[in-house]
Amino acid sequence: MKRNRILIIEDNLLNLELVTDLLEANGCLVGSAQTAEEGLRLARVLLPDLVLMDVSLPGMDGLSATKILKADPATHHLTVVALTANAMKGDEEAALNAGCDGYLTKPIDTRTFCATITKLIAVANGHLLAH
Ligand code: MN
Repeated sequence: MKRNRILIIEDNLLNLELVTDLLEANGCLVGSAQTAEEGLRLARVLLPDLVLMDVSLPGMDGLSATKILKADPATHHLTVVALTANAMKGDEEAALNAGCDGYLTKPIDTRTFCATITKLIAVANGHLLAH
């Protein structure tokens, strides 16, 4: 079975480690960056199945980085899921307007996180099961 490749762009080290551990335990190959700039560089190199994009990052923010990925023919097909800690009304709409394909709030639910990621990748690939 093909291993899903995930790129996490997250400046909170505790959350970065938690998400990395969960995904690796589920057989995913995980790359990570702590800034949008480094994340954009890695996204172009790795072309991962899914990018987990923290919205609040030092320097360039995650939604600006998402817009850059979605405007670039080399990366516009990548599935980008926003991660935000300050879930406010309008945040999800802002994420979707920036081109994000999905939206998750922190703290993540460790029991359902990996299944959610797997499902988002399946939906993005048009492989969502009918049952
Ligand atoms: Mn952050």
